[in-house]
This record gives sequence, structure tokens and C-alpha cells, in this order.
Amino acid sequence: MTILCPSGRGFPRSGAREKSGEKILIREGYSQQMLGFNENVRLIITDVDDTVSRVYRKTDPKLIFELENLLSEGKSIVFTSGQSFRGIHERITSLIAPDLRKRCLLVGCLGAEINRFDPKTGELVEKPVFSLYGKVSARKRGKWREIVKQIVLEFDLKIFPIMPPEDFVRLTKGRKNSAMIADRGPQITFELPNDTEGLLKARMKKRAELLLKKAGIPARPTLGGVSALDLRLDGASKELAVRKILSERKFLKMIGLEKREMVPSEERIEIWGDRFEKGLPDSEISLAVPRGVRSIDFRDEDRKKFPKGRKIVFWDGKKRLSLGLLEYLKNRKKRRAV
Ligand SMILES: [Mg+2]
Repeated sequence: MTILCPSGRGFPRSGAREKSGEKILIREGYSQQMLGFNENVRLIITDVDDTVSRVYRKTDPKLIFELENLLSEGKSIVFTSGQSFRGIHERITSLIAPDLRKRCLLVGCLGAEINRFDPKTGELVEKPVFSLYGKVSARKRGKWREIVKQIVLEFDLKIFPIMPPEDFVRLTKGRKNSAMIADRGPQITFELPNDTEGLLKARMKKRAELLLKKAGIPARPTLGGVSALDLRLDGASKELAVRKILSERKFLKMIGLEKREMVPSEERIEIWGDRFEKGLPDSEISLAVPRGVRSIDFRDEDRKKFPKGRKIVFWDGKKRLSLGLLEYLKNRKKRRAV
């Protein structure tokens, strides 16, 4: 694949790009030279929070426009998140034209569920096409909620309704024990935006681990996003869900793809995310795909902490996170016009 030679802040990272075997081409008179789009891609697997949308906010209409362009060209998109499928739909796919969003799959609650759209109407199908939650008894579901209440009491948490983190920080004036709780069914998430050093989250994680284990609940606490402590269902992971989608013909068919179109995978598949350090959710997507597939990181992370042997490259434009993704997609049009 040919990419434009990056300039400015992107250049120090070019060593990694050379290692990945991509060809670098310098175009004279082209001021904004950044990581190029792979036009041969058929399937994009992306994270949601901070990659496509800001946390608990709807997606920028300009980015929706770019996503619709990709879908109308016959590319397909899998959105993966710690959010429920309803949350992903509300913030992204409900804003995409029904006829185009048929080419999307929603991987909710860190892979515990996969949802699709009706092939005729483009409406969201509420019943998941894959779910791990059905195996959990009503008694255990209830006990899980009791443990959440116990943690709230033990850590003296003050619970607020769900809102964007910046609003929350303003409202709670930075008080560490202020929290939000999102019960998404197969996953319960504590959001602690004021716990910037992560000390409270670490203590809560330890306690939750013990309580869940003692009660025999098939769930475990993990750190997710920037401020989240997720109590996630055992076995649920972005890796598992993405592996399922890529290996079972029926999932690809749902979004208008054939398995044979997926080769060579490094040409056909691309990953977008912002948390690729080992153990964080987007690294799970990278681990689910063949080694040569490119993952683009829209956050400045520590490369040394990435999982080994994966082709994770940084977006080298001026902006980061969802604004960086918008810049990446808009740049694609500019390049075509050159
Ligand atoms: Mg993210």
C-alpha cells in the first residue's frame, strides 16, 4: 500500500511504519501529508468512545457524513464498545440512513452481545444475534446487582445520573467518590471521572473481584475507557466477538460481505481505536485479526505497552481521538482530488 510521507509530528514514528512494509511516497506541493486511507478496505472494525464519539455524546454530524460515504461505497463497519448496543445505536447508527446502516454490526458490552439491523427496513433488531448473557440465571443477575449496591455502600460512593464526563466533573467539583453507574445488562460499569490517578478504581476492582467470586457470579472487574471500571461477563471480550464475526460466514453475510472477499486480510480489514495498550479493550480487536492488519491509534499512547507483533500505527495528523478520525477521513477526499 502506498501512503503519503508524513510531516511534522508524524515523522518521528515513521520507523515503525517502515518496519510494517508500507511504501512511503513524498508528494510535492501537498502540505497536509498524513497516513493514507486504504481504498481496498472492505471491513472496518472500530471502537466507539473517543474514537467515533466523545464519551456519552452523539457523533459529530460531519463524521456521520464520512461514515455514510464509506458505507455507500460498499464498505462495512463493526462498532465495538463497552456500551450496550442501544447506547451505540443512539449515539451513532441511529444517525446513519437506515438503508446504509444495514452494513453495520454492533458489538456491545465488550463483546457479550452482537446486534444487527433488519435487512429490509434497516431498523435495529433488539434480539441479539449472539449473546452470552442468556446463560446467566435470574438469581445470579439479581445477586450481581446486590454486590454493586454493597460496593457503593462500602466505598461511600455518591451516585449521579449518566452524563458526559466533563459535565460530571464540573457538577461534582472533582470529588473522588462521586460516581455514575451504567447497568447495561451483561455489563455494569462504574464511571469515576474524578479518580484521575485510578487509586479508588484499583481498590474497588480488588473488592469487586472478591465479592463476585465468592457469590459465584460469572463476571470480573476490568479497567475500560478512561474513567470506567467494568464488571464484565466472563468470556466476553472484543476479541471473542471479532473472531466470531470473521470466522462465521453468517455474520459477514449480515453486513453484505462474503468470506472470500476478506483476503488478503491486510488489504481488506482495518481497525480504528484509541486504547491499544496491552490489556485495554482495543488491543483485543488487534489480537483477533491476522497480524498484518493495520490498526490506527487516534490517541498518543505508549508504543512500548502495545501487544507484540501487531501492526498498530499512530494517526499522524494534527488532531486526536474522534477529531483525528474525522481528519483522517476528510483527508481521503483531498488525496483523491490531488
Ligand atoms: Mg475508546
